[in-house]
Order: sequence, then structure tokens, then C-alpha cells
Amino acid sequence: MSLPTPRELVALLDGELRGSPAEQPLRAVAIDSRRVLPGDLFVALGGRHCDGHDFVEAAEAAGASLVVLRRDRSPASVPSRPGCARLLVADPLLALQQLAAWYRRTHIRRVVAITGSNGKTVVKTALTALLAGRFRVAASPGSWNSQVGVPLAVLTAPPGTELGVFEAGISAPGEMERLAAILAPDHGVLVNVGLAHLGSFGSREVTAREKMRLFQTIAEPGWVIAPDDPLVNALPLPCPRIHPGSGPPRLLDQRPQGSGMLLQLDLGGSQAQVAVRTRSQPLIEDLVIAMTAAQRLGVPAEEMVAVLQDYTFGPTRMETWRTPEGITIVNDTASDDPLSVQTALATVASSPEGGRRLFVFGGMADLGSGERREHELIGRMAAERGFAELLLLPHPARSHTAAAWNARHPGRAARELGGTAALRATIRQLAEPGDTVLLKGAARQELSGAARAIWESMAPRRLLVDLDAIRDNVARFRALCGPGVAMLAVLKAWAYGTDLPRLAAALQDSGIDWIGVSAADEGAAIRRAGVHRPVLVMLMDTDEVDKAVRWRLTPVVYSLPFARALVATLRAMGACLEVHLEIETGMGRLGVAPEEALAAARLLRDSGVVTVSGVMTHLAGADDPAADGDTTAQLRRFEAVVDGLRRELGTPLLVHAAATSGAVRFPASRYDMVRLGLGLFGLHPSPAVAAAIELELAVAFISRLVQVRHCSKGQRIGYNGTYQVSAERQRIGIVAAGYNDGVPWRFSNRGEVMMQGRRLAVLGRVSMDSMAIDLEPLPEAAVGDEVLIFGAHEGQVLRPEQAAIQAGTIPYDLLVQVDGRRVQRIFRGG
Ligand SMILES: *Cc1c(COP(=O)(O)O)cnc(C)c1O
Repeated sequence: MSLPTPRELVALLDGELRGSPAEQPLRAVAIDSRRVLPGDLFVALGGRHCDGHDFVEAAEAAGASLVVLRRDRSPASVPSRPGCARLLVADPLLALQQLAAWYRRTHIRRVVAITGSNGKTVVKTALTALLAGRFRVAASPGSWNSQVGVPLAVLTAPPGTELGVFEAGISAPGEMERLAAILAPDHGVLVNVGLAHLGSFGSREVTAREKMRLFQTIAEPGWVIAPDDPLVNALPLPCPRIHPGSGPPRLLDQRPQGSGMLLQLDLGGSQAQVAVRTRSQPLIEDLVIAMTAAQRLGVPAEEMVAVLQDYTFGPTRMETWRTPEGITIVNDTASDDPLSVQTALATVASSPEGGRRLFVFGGMADLGSGERREHELIGRMAAERGFAELLLLPHPARSHTAAAWNARHPGRAARELGGTAALRATIRQLAEPGDTVLLKGAARQELSGAARAIWESMAPRRLLVDLDAIRDNVARFRALCGPGVAMLAVLKAWAYGTDLPRLAAALQDSGIDWIGVSAADEGAAIRRAGVHRPVLVMLMDTDEVDKAVRWRLTPVVYSLPFARALVATLRAMGACLEVHLEIETGMGRLGVAPEEALAAARLLRDSGVVTVSGVMTHLAGADDPAADGDTTAQLRRFEAVVDGLRRELGTPLLVHAAATSGAVRFPASRYDMVRLGLGLFGLHPSPAVAAAIELELAVAFISRLVQVRHCSKGQRIGYNGTYQVSAERQRIGIVAAGYNDGVPWRFSNRGEVMMQGRRLAVLGRVSMDSMAIDLEPLPEAAVGDEVLIFGAHEGQVLRPEQAAIQAGTIPYDLLVQVDGRRVQRIFRGG
């Protein structure tokens, strides 16, 4: 971020300054006092649940350089620290928006602004993926599209962004002007005009007019992509208007393939087939809109095809997932617009899957006088489309939906449920293999909670990843290392066995400076997911150099042959790259030898096609106090090489050596940046690291009890009968997880799992798909209950480090062995 100094900001905003501001530019913007770091700007925003003005002193104590707050809410105390000031304004939200507007004009070359009643995030995500190979793209994180979300999204774009892709969402008249003033779009996309927030807009006409205000300042060569909808066509635009599908790219034909669709596309001059992992028509339409925008922005057809092949949509957008029992769950809780509900019903009704269809409906918010009519229509449609069951969550208008359904569906009355718990129980009882369950309604807590609960209750094996805990760990490392040390998240092995694009996007939003991966393809995957931070590729192949150029990746040069091959390829391509040079100082793995370092640096620099912008090494035993002498020796060797390189190159170098263990145990090894892997997930590489930092455990590997048996004395359990019951009777449980799922086989007769906070022994040998556990300590345990294999879940903790010891391995190995196909990854927080 390149923000103004406090004084420059004061000049930009209209307000009264109190105290003496620091001279350095502001570091970052925070609206949550717990996230404030020294040098930050804290903006106190009023909220329904939480008012930033109550945390002004906390933000100042955390080191904020400047606090922007409402004139009439300044605390009586005066900030005493020099370099800490307050700016009193009439409206802090407006001040945040003005800062974002300044940032947009200063640091972002062009902006594509996307609005619509639903599908904004889908179009934004797809467009970002399509553009990422051509431009430095920055996109709104998640669905940050509100009066607060838009300015924060703009401020996350790095300086030098060539194209910003931002969403704008409104719920009342007058809001769009403010968003348009921030975004100053060059190009616009209106996805559709639905009926959401009809209560506050009054009519679709007003909704359309308000949305179109986003585009009122777009001049040629700008354009707006808008649906061919008479209502929208009637509204004037100051620039050309494009109807998606009116020319190429156009959908010629489509047919089901696997659980997705095979699309036949006309790309203008060529045709292509693309398989996408969805059958939802609205999603496919959104994809065509994104392609239309990408084509206008200069992305060639073949590049689009490469990106869209096997395109996967983000969570909660008609996400289709099949449980091992064969029940299909369609989770579409992102929008509760009536049109979106009707399309979801139609899509699920027309899917070729056999079995019954169950509809879980959470109602639609804010429809004003249309509330009754729209809710009746949904009940009628669901009945007419052949749904077998209607389950209704509490909503003021649900009796209308129920009445309309019951009138057309005699004998199968709608079920009005009390809440999430009742829903979960009912689904478990009703759904049978082959059935499809559609969950739809507002993205309110209850429905997404219910979706998750059903999901979770039907997936016997899950790896839960708690993104909030990971963010917390980032904050702890920041506090430990101080603001001068950059942080790189090491996301090799598909983010330690979790989900690389998901983690990279979440970490970028929590202030991680760099992302580290092993291969260039992993770098491409996260660029397509909208990650704009620098990406270090630690183990690149020489034949991947073209990908590094294309996706703006920073390779690590780990040997002289690699350096030579890199230079040769770049010359042949006529391209340039920045690299980091790795020095081998005692790990005995990758890196040029200290005595080769100068020669390597000269070779790279003199090539004219490579800039050495960083230098790194890797420590072999920073987790182990017994090896501290060796670690110190490694650092000494490294520093000697770095000194020599600095003299030789005379350009700034980003110096880094520490992984989790070094960052925690060796302050001297932090240099300019630390590379964190295991620690982000709250796992400790060794007991010595555990003793030095407290982290939040962010993973949990969970399965279920599928059987409870009573065995009598002498009975043997599992392959080769290695466990024999010695008591008169023993209660034994069978858990649906085995070594094929990532339970270490070495858990046989020695591992432990946890239920209700109680440790339970693994009995006999672990099988491929299951294992037996001792239920004697837990007489109340029943089939269906959750079993924690390791991690932190609902107050229970079973340390993975300890499980690793029982399995005769290390925590790293334990984590990455959790099978990616059989164990559902579920993310918490967001
Ligand atoms: C894996 C790796 C890291 C991260 O190690 P953790 O112990 O998981 O923090 C850092 N740097 C390099 C070069 C690595 O290979």
C-alpha cells in the first residue's frame, strides 16, 4: 500500500487535526482495532453491533499513527504519544471513501465496475481469472461490495495495478453515487436487474436506474455490458452498450457431461469446447458475461479457453456436492433474489439426476408490498416443478409459501421447521441415496449454517480449516516479528494439504506480503484466483520459465545450471524476470554454494534479462535447541555471502532465511522477511517452538462412528487379530476413516482419537477405510457421533504434534497425508 502521510491525508479530508502527526506515510488502513499495527490509520466506523469509537484508545495503544473519528465522539483523553494524532470529521465513512477515491486515482490505472442483483461475485471471479494472465489485476476480496467494502477493496489493490475489478452492491437509493465516486470506472458490467431489495427501491425500474448510476461517468473508449432488458435499454448511457451473447463470445450449444456441462462456444473466428463444473444456467450466463468483458479487454480466445477448461465456481454459488451415500446437496445461499430462487428451482428440477428433489427455503428479504406474492409464487413453482418435499425455515412470509405449496401438493404438506437443528435432523431422516437437496434463501446466518451443518453431518470425513484462526496466527507472527519484517506464506503441497487458491486469497486479504509455492503452475492457479501479491516459486523447473514470465512469478535460482537455463530461455523469449538467489549454507538441499554465489549473481546480472532482487537460505535445524550452534553457523555463512552480494550488485536485496522455527526461535534470522508454513495452521514444528509461541490450532480432521459393538473376552479385532479383548466385555466403535483417508497406519494399537473431550485408544490394526476404537470410557457414544482424529474442534483439542509422535512421523507429514479426494475440506470464517 502506498498511502499518504497523515498531513497529506488531512489536506485531502475536511477535518480538525488534534495532536502532532508522524511524518512517515501511513502503513495500512484498519477498521478493527485488533488488527492495528504501528503506523496504521484507524477509521472509527459506527456499526449496528460494534462502534469503532469505543476502540479509539485501543487503536492508539496498538500504535495507530492517525485515528479518523466523528467530531462529537472524540474521547476526553488526548493521545500523549508523539506521532499519534486524531482527525475529527463529520462522517468517518465518507472520509474512508474519499481516501479510497484518492487511492483509486493515484494507484490504479483502469477499473471495471460490476453491479447487479445477483451473480456479481461470480462474474468478478471469472473475469479476474480470465485477465490475470495479461494484466496486473486486483479484485475485490470475497463480496466486499458495500459502502464500507468497496473502499476497503480499493485500498487492498497494490500500487501499479493495471486493472481493478470491483463489485458494487446497493440496498437503497442514493448509495450508488458514492460508490461510483470511489471507483470512477472505465468499464462497466451490469449482470442483471432482479427483485432484491424491492422494499427499499419500490420497483424494478427504480432498481435499474439506481444501478446504472454506477456507469454515468464512463466515456468512450469505455463501454458497459448490460442485459438486453427493455427496462435497462430505456436508460441512457454515455458510452457504447454491449449485450452479452449478441456477438461472439457466444454460447452455441451445451450438453451435460459428468456433473457439469460441455459448452460449445463461438469465439469469433473460432469455435471451442469447454467443460465447466456446473449445470447451473445462471452461472453459465455469468461466465459468458465475463468472457464478453475479457474479450473487449484484449484477452485472446485460446487464452480464455485455457482458463475456463474445468472452471470451478466458488463456494455457495450453486455449489453441488455429492455425499458418499449418494445424496446431492446443492448449496446456493449467496442470493435470495426471487429471480435467483426461481432459476435455482428450475435448474435443479431439470437436472438429469434421478431420485427425489427436496427444497429447503429460507425466504426472501425486503420485498415490500411484493412479499406475499413472491413467496406464494415460490411455493407454487416448487410444487409444479415436481419437488417432493418443502422444508421452510422461520421467515415472516413462510406461511404464504406453505399455503401455495399445500394447495398443489395434497398429502405432502410443507414442513415449517423451528431452526437449524430441526432442519438438520429432518434432512438426515428424509434424504435417501439418489435424492437432491436444494438449499436456497438469503445468505443469512441460519441458512448457510444449516447448509454447512447438513453438509458436515453427511460427509463422514472432513478436514475443517479455520480461516479466522489462520488470520489470528498471521497477526501473532506480525506482532512477534514487528512491522519491519515482511511475511511470506509458504503454500506448497496445495497449502499443506488444504486448498491453495482458497488459502492464498484469504491470506492476501489478511495482510500477508508474499506467497510461496513450489511450481509455476501453482503460481498460475493463485494468480487466476485474483492473488496480486508477489509469488516466490521455490522449486521451478527450467521448462517453466515462460509461465513465470506470463504469470509474473519470482523464481528462486537454486543452482548454476538453473541460472544458465533461465538466462537462455529469457533471451530467446525476449523477456525479463526478477529472481531470488538461494544460497546453500548447511541444509544440503538446494542453493548455490557460498563460493559460487558471486559468480551466479554476476552471470544473472550481466545477462541483462535478470534482476536479482532477493537472496535466501534455508535453515536445517532451527526447531532444535541441540542444533543451535549449527543454525548460528549457517546464519554466519549466509551473512558473509549477503555482504559480498550487496557489494557486487549494489542494488537493494530482500534477505530471508527463516521458516516458522527460525522466525520464532532466532530473531537474528528474520532479516527482511520470514517464510511461514506450518505455523500459519497453528502447528509447531517442535516442542522448543511450541514453548516459544502460542498459536491457534486451525485444522481438525474429523470422522464419524459408523458402528458400535459389544465384544466379549478373547475376541480379536482387525487384521491379523493384533488386539484381543481381555475384559469380560468391551464396547468397541468403528470409525469411518482409515489409512486410505490419511489416518497413519502406525496408529494401529497405539494411536488415540477424541470424542466429547475424552481420549480413546485405537484398537488393532488401522484398515484401509476404517479403524476400531475403545468406547469403554464413553458409554453414551452412539452411531453418527463425531470423532476427532486430530486438531481443534468445538472445544476439544487433540494436538497433531502428539499424534505425529504416536505415528512415528512429523506434523508436516501427518497434515499433508489427509486425502484430498476422500476427505471434504470445509472452511470456517471467511
Ligand atoms: C517449507 C518451507 C518453508 C516453510 O517451513 P515451515 O516450517 O512449514 O514454516 C520455508 N522455506 C522453504 C524454502 C521451505 O521449503
